[in-house]
Amino acid sequence: MKCGYDMCSNLGECTEDLVKDKNRYYCKSCFEERQHKTEIRAKINEMLPKEPQTTVNTVIKDLIHTKKYDWDYILYALEDIKKTNKNLNYARGIQYYLNNIELQKQYETQKNIEKYNKTSKDGFETSDDEVEFSYKATTPSWLKIM
Ligand SMILES: [Zn+2]
Repeated sequence: MKCGYDMCSNLGECTEDLVKDKNRYYCKSCFEERQHKTEIRAKINEMLPKEPQTTVNTVIKDLIHTKKYDWDYILYALEDIKKTNKNLNYARGIQYYLNNIELQKQYETQKNIEKYNKTSKDGFETSDDEVEFSYKATTPSWLKIM
């Protein structure tokens, strides 16, 4: 099965762990990465409505695939920029904030808290939700409350 994700990390062929979405197949990891990029894109568009879509896409690709930033760290930084009313005039400027050591430390601390909370209340959940819903559930809860 061909993977529908253009940045497939498995040479374009789906792994055994695959997901079907709108008649296309994806490796599970590719599908998740794609979902997270959509989240990041939506956030940037919300903060920088005038930024051309091609620029936003290039920046996201660069941050995730070239600079290897975690998707959740990018989301965290975007939330922080928004929350603290920091200056962000163009998508490329996100890089400046991602490099911030203080923000990285802050993020690591939050992540550890999240990890702790998760292990303490992780149990078997019964749900009739569609498969897609379980992906949304992977957004850390501290992101939702901010
Ligand atoms: Zn793939």
